[in-house]
Amino acid sequence: MNPIKLEQLAVMAEGLLLAGDPELALTSVHFDTRQLEKGALFVAVQGVRDGHDFLQQAVENGACAAIVSNQEKIPDVLPTGFGLILVNDTLRAYQKLAGYYRKSFAIPMIAITGSIGKTTTKDIVSHVLACKLPIYKTYKNLNNHLGVPYSLLQLEDRHQAAVLELGMNHAGEIDLLASLVKPQISVITYIGESHLEHFGSREKIALAKAELLPHTDPEGFVLLNGDNEYLKKITHLYPGQVLTYSVREPADIWAEKITAEENGTRFDICFRNGDRFSAFLPLFGNHNVLNALPAVVIARHFGLSASEITHALATVQLSAMRFERRDSSTGAVYINDAYNASPTSMEAAISTFADVLPERSKVLVLADMFELGPDSLEMHAQVGRFASKLRDHFQQLIAIGDHARALYDAYEGEKYFFSTKEEAVDTLAALCTPDRAFLFKASRGMELWTLIDDIEKRA
Ligand code: ATP
Ligand code: MG
Repeated sequence: MNPIKLEQLAVMAEGLLLAGDPELALTSVHFDTRQLEKGALFVAVQGVRDGHDFLQQAVENGACAAIVSNQEKIPDVLPTGFGLILVNDTLRAYQKLAGYYRKSFAIPMIAITGSIGKTTTKDIVSHVLACKLPIYKTYKNLNNHLGVPYSLLQLEDRHQAAVLELGMNHAGEIDLLASLVKPQISVITYIGESHLEHFGSREKIALAKAELLPHTDPEGFVLLNGDNEYLKKITHLYPGQVLTYSVREPADIWAEKITAEENGTRFDICFRNGDRFSAFLPLFGNHNVLNALPAVVIARHFGLSASEITHALATVQLSAMRFERRDSSTGAVYINDAYNASPTSMEAAISTFADVLPERSKVLVLADMFELGPDSLEMHAQVGRFASKLRDHFQQLIAIGDHARALYDAYEGEKYFFSTKEEAVDTLAALCTPDRAFLFKASRGMELWTLIDDIEKRA
């Protein structure tokens, strides 16, 4: 963060300066005392615990000032000159401060939301742009009411663009985050089943994502996944240019001749105006080709040539646990896609797994998907039926968890069911021979990646 004076921070947070030297310059803002550096402003946000309980810790870790809302919890003794800003709501103050700070940057902001593919798209867009200009990108998956302000507060003068991931669980959340980010370019990757439990229908999920559009600069542009029927219904909510991208059919930009190769995927990139070029992505699955298309449009907008774009795409690396390969000490291959799962991403991973590593005997290790609402069992069964259609590619299915029982029941091939990960370890360890490959996928809450470690210890 660029240094900001304490009195200015009080204005930005819409608070009262209770104590401290107004001229004191602060160089970072944090709500987590473990991240504090000297010269930081600590914001006492209510998390699992009340941030006010960490004020003393914040002082010890180098904070020079704090934003508080509960005066009773201010420690009696604070270092001389320690700054205090009083607000009514520390979370809102943190968000306002970040939104205000963002306004001092006249750089393009790229906002990415969607039910799935946000982090992947963000990683590819930022990797391609970073080949040409210094950018800031959302660190890991910090995409929520705290993560987005955090990202904005990391901006520095050297950054020439920012690529930010915006996530949500409820209606109204993207509205708030987008009002802070004020993007020039917005991307909506997908409308799927995640959070169906809260929303009730995919149309309502689409509307919640569409909250991004009115905050996008009308002089900028919006990129929508043209293969998603629900995104076609919201285009009227953006007054500026809407561009679509697709791996199925011609759109403003689309991919064709998609071919799985040993180390990734080759495809042609086609534009509505007739331009086209060939590219290679070191990732697997049509869905990842789809996730790469916004990067191509955005890179062209920033003036990158076709050869700069193809060179950048060929060196993309993803965040962890997205179809990540790990080689077992036994010679087997684990594909760790256990970062998260919904029916759509399960099916994408299953069909991608069917296409890759053709010389190996493949084992599907699929566990529960969460937050799917009342149709959860049917959705698990649907994934089981989907996998059945591709069963010639798989030697076994291992299903784990209460809901995955429905997936297991629907699968027509060799299969095993276990209620817990622990019960599955012995069977999996016995299968862990040099000719095999395993796909691990489930909702994040299943923490299926721990199973890989346990098998490895046993194998
Ligand atoms: P989160 O909401 O947890 O932040 P996200 O939207 O950032 O998720 P990613 O982390 O990019 O999504 O991907 C999550 C999972 O979905 C990964 O397993 C990935 O392989 C898969 N996936 C990504 N994009 C698609 C897509 N377009 N279609 C189907 N599956 C996808
Ligand atoms: Mg993400």
